[in-house]
Amino acid sequence: MTVQDMRKFYIDGAWVEPLQPENFGVLNPATEEVIASISLGSTEDIDRAVAAARRAFASFSNTSKKDRVELLERILAVYKKRYDEMAELICLELGAPISMSKKSQAAVGVGHLEGFLQALGELKLRQELANGDTLLREPVGVCGLITPWNWPVNQVALKVLPALATGCTVVLKPSELTPLSAMLYADILHEAGVPKGVFNLVNGDGPVTGASLSCHPDVDMMSFTGSTRAGVAVTKDAADTVKKVTLELGGKSPNILFADADVDKAVKRGVFGCFYNSGQSCNAPTRMLVERPIYDKVLEIAKTTGESQQVGDPALEGRHIGPVVSVLQFERIQTLIKAGIEEGATLLVGGAGKPDGFETGYYVRPTIFCDVSNDMRIAREEIFGPVLSIIPFDDEDEALQIANDTPYGLAAYIETGDSDRAERLVKKLRAGQVYINGTECDYGSPFGGYKMSGLGREGGLFGLEDFLEIKAVSRP
Ligand code: NAD
Repeated sequence: MTVQDMRKFYIDGAWVEPLQPENFGVLNPATEEVIASISLGSTEDIDRAVAAARRAFASFSNTSKKDRVELLERILAVYKKRYDEMAELICLELGAPISMSKKSQAAVGVGHLEGFLQALGELKLRQELANGDTLLREPVGVCGLITPWNWPVNQVALKVLPALATGCTVVLKPSELTPLSAMLYADILHEAGVPKGVFNLVNGDGPVTGASLSCHPDVDMMSFTGSTRAGVAVTKDAADTVKKVTLELGGKSPNILFADADVDKAVKRGVFGCFYNSGQSCNAPTRMLVERPIYDKVLEIAKTTGESQQVGDPALEGRHIGPVVSVLQFERIQTLIKAGIEEGATLLVGGAGKPDGFETGYYVRPTIFCDVSNDMRIAREEIFGPVLSIIPFDDEDEALQIANDTPYGLAAYIETGDSDRAERLVKKLRAGQVYINGTECDYGSPFGGYKMSGLGREGGLFGLEDFLEIKAVSRP
C-alpha cells in the first residue's frame, strides 16, 4: 500500500512545508498499516500560523454578519460536494464503519453548519441595556483549537464554525491520530473562499505542538476537546497569559432504567448506545443503573443484545462496530476489563482479548459487566471502548445518588414511563444534557459538561457566545 505524503501544513491560505519536519505515521486501525505520513509541528510552525491568524484578524474581525453568513453557506455547499470523501477518510483513519461514517460521522459536519447558520441569524451583536448603556459582542481574537480523534469532524466543526461565524481567526491542531479528515476540512474551507490567514492548520502532538499553542502569548483563547488530563494541561499552560479557555472533556454517563420504562427498547438502545462508535463517544451511556424489580429481566435482554453486536471490517457496509483507534486505547480497555474482573464484577458478555478471527487490527470484544458497584474502576473511569457496566438500585433517591456520584457530568439518560419522575430527575442530575426515553438533542442545542466534563458549551447560540468578548459602552 502506498503511504500518502501529507506532511504540509495549511498556513496563510496555502499548503506549506514544515519549518522543522518531524515525520509521523498515520495508521489504519483495522489493518495496523501506515496509510499516510504527516509532520508534527514545532514551536516555530505554531509561531508562523499564529502570526498569519493575527494579521488576518485585523480585517476579518471587521466583516459584517451578512458576509460571514454567506461564507458559512459557501462552506456548506462545498462540504456537501465532498461529503463522501470525508466519510471515506474517517472510515480509514478512525476505523468507523463506512455506513456509520456516512450516516453520522460525516453528517454532523452538515448538521452543525445548519445549526450555526440559524444561531448566527439570531445572534444580537449590539444591545441597548435597560440602564441606557450599550452592550457590544465582539470576536475574542486569535483562537487555538485542539481536537481529539473520536468524532474528528464533529469537533473540528464545533470549533472552527463558531470562530469563523463570530469573526475570529484560528489555528487548528487536530489529533495526530486522525489528521486526514481535518486536512480535507482545510481544503473545503480553501475552496469555499475563506480569506487567507483566517483558518490555519498545524498537525502535531500534545506536549510540543499543542502546548506551543496553549502557551502562545498572541493567542487569545483556547478551545479544547479531549481527555480531562490534557484539558487540565491546556488550562495551566494558558494561565500565564490569562487566556479564555473552553473545555469539552470526558464522561461516565448514567442511563437510569426504571421498572415503568419500556424495558425491552430501553435495554437495547442502552447497550447499542454504549457500543456505538466502538464505545468512543464522550457522552456514551456507559453506566446502566437498573431498578431491582427488573434487574434479572434487564440482564437477560442485555446478554442477548450484547451477544448480537457484530464486530467487523470498517470498509464493509453494515451495522457492525469497527476497531478502536489505536494500540494504546486497545491496551487501556484491556486493563480496565481485567480490573472489572479482579474487582468482582460479573462478566455477562465478552471479556478481555480480541474477537475470534480478528488477530490484526485493534478490535475489542463488546463487553458487558453486571453486579457492578459504583466504586469499581469500571464504574468510575472513562473506558472509551465498547464496555458497559450494569449497576442495580433500589429507589429513585439511590438512583440519583449513584448517577451523580462521578467526577464527570456530561450527559445523563432516563428511561421511565412516568413523566413527573423524569422532570424531578432532570432538575437534580448534575449533567450538561439529559436525554429522556431515547431522544437526542438537536443541532443548535448546547453541548458540554458539569464538573470535570468541561467548561463552556458548544453548538448553536451558546457555542457562538463562547467566541465573543463583551464590551459595555457608556455615553454621556
Ligand atoms: P487526548 O486528551 O489525549 O487528546 C486530545 C487532543 O489533545 C489531541 O489533539 C492531542 O494531541 C492533544 N493533547 C494531548 N496532550 C496535550 C497537551 N498537554 N497540551 C495540548 N494538547 C494536548 O484525548 P484523546 O485520547 O485524543 O480523546 C479521547 C478523550 O476526549 C476522551 O476522554 C473523551 O471523553 C474526550 N472527548 C470529549 C468530548 C466532549 O465533547 N466532551 C468529545 C470528544 C472526546
